Amino acid sequence: MRCKAARKLMSRYLDDELPPGAMSAVQEHLVGCDECRGEHDAQLVLWGLLERVPPVEPPDLFASIERRLEAPTREPAPFAWLNLRSAALAVAAAALIGLSIWMGIWAGETRHHTAVAAHDGELSELFSDVPPGFEVVALLERIGE
Ligand SMILES: [Zn+2]
Repeated sequence: MRCKAARKLMSRYLDDELPPGAMSAVQEHLVGCDECRGEHDAQLVLWGLLERVPPVEPPDLFASIERRLEAPTREPAPFAWLNLRSAALAVAAAALIGLSIWMGIWAGETRHHTAVAAHDGELSELFSDVPPGFEVVALLERIGE
């Protein structure tokens, strides 16, 4: 086995993950090659140091998850159903109702005015022969007497 192949397999050799034939081939190379044995020893030291490093957990991660799990679910807002679209529909409906009420009043007033105008027309026809300056009201009072 050459140095390049031995170094490529080095970390798997250190983890004891190579098939038996490859394990023994790397081992044989290390016995006969000072450079690769040096590399092997350096990696062994590094792995030993890494194993001594305590595992680091993100601070407050589990506590924050637990807090969220234990927190009561939020009550929905009192008028959560009232979104923008339904509010716009309500305004449009109110405007339509207001418009129809106003139209009804306006139509009623128009009919009233037409009736009053017709009545005035009849009265003026009745008193068409009354000379100008003669008060119609005074004349009606006289008729009532
Ligand atoms: Zn070598």
